[in-house]
Amino acid sequence: MTKMNWTPLRNAIGEAAHIVLLPHIYADGDALGSSGALALFLQAQGKQVTIAVEEAVQDKLSFLCTKAGIQFTLPETETPRADLAIAVDVSDYARLGSRKTLFDRAKVKARIDHHGVSGDFAPITVCNPDWAATAEGIYEFLNEIGANWTVPMAICLYTGLVTDTGCFAYSNVRPETMKAGAAMLEIAGDLSWIYRETFENKTKSCIALTAVAYAKTEYEAGGRIAYLQLEAQDYDSAGATDEDSEGFSAMLRAIQGVHVSIFVRDGKNPGQYRISLRSDEASDVSKVAAEFGGGGHARAAGITFVSDKEETFTQFKNRLITRLKEGMNV
Ligand code: AMP
Ligand code: MN
Ligand code: MN
Repeated sequence: MTKMNWTPLRNAIGEAAHIVLLPHIYADGDALGSSGALALFLQAQGKQVTIAVEEAVQDKLSFLCTKAGIQFTLPETETPRADLAIAVDVSDYARLGSRKTLFDRAKVKARIDHHGVSGDFAPITVCNPDWAATAEGIYEFLNEIGANWTVPMAICLYTGLVTDTGCFAYSNVRPETMKAGAAMLEIAGDLSWIYRETFENKTKSCIALTAVAYAKTEYEAGGRIAYLQLEAQDYDSAGATDEDSEGFSAMLRAIQGVHVSIFVRDGKNPGQYRISLRSDEASDVSKVAAEFGGGGHARAAGITFVSDKEETFTQFKNRLITRLKEGMNV
């Protein structure tokens, strides 16, 4: 088991009065939950803490605000220059989005993460791909530092663990992941409601969009690859938002015989596409994603593609499917 060196981060925290935490763009339960748990600890140390997010927090994660008391700040709010900026669950500088300036302006820059394929952009980096979630790293750090655990901290940390492991089901789960989860249950008691908030409680528009998604799913490589592209009109027809399609890549990977799923959505700007990849042991999609300028984990990765004169989306799609087929060991 890799023991991480937390000393540089610990020293940087000791010297900082104002700390800004930066979860990745399109923040998920791990990015927000890990930031929340860390923020609560830092606030208890008398630090002034801002969690600066790129987009409004997804509805299904709003309990982090209402039940754990976490405040997330949007970019339009003026944030003073921080003594320390910590990128949380951020694999790559680009995934700071418009908050790169907040990061760059900070006196000291750090990163806590668990992505295997990642860009080294922070002078202080604690990154361990063995952690199932960044939350597992936060647990290690707060334990080492002797933090006083509270129920709101446990809610945040457990959210990170549950969401990044598919409810402790994925191959990234280790005994340490379970131990961190168990510790949170000892602090907070029954946390099954977090599973319900994050994985159940599907909106009617999500169900309508799911019907569209299954109808549009195509199979490649003799059924070993599932491919789905949803466009703005698909969301409109179901009255759905981006949040409604969050679990779709995993949903497609779960189809019998499918080893790799590809889920494509429109990006923020015209000509931009967000591609989510999921796999089982047949393929390391983080490696493939990295070849296409993206990144992530062995079983869950992503790519941002921008079409230009050099390559259309259809050409990119064919190239990606061909590459995934080649790299598959089934
Ligand atoms: P997603 O499919 O968006 O849930 O992302 C799966 C994993 O891949 C996450 O760990 C992300 O951090 C990573 N990821 C997604 N998109 C990108 C990208 N464009 N560049 C690098 N990593 C990404
Ligand atoms: Mn994440
Ligand atoms: Mn994560």
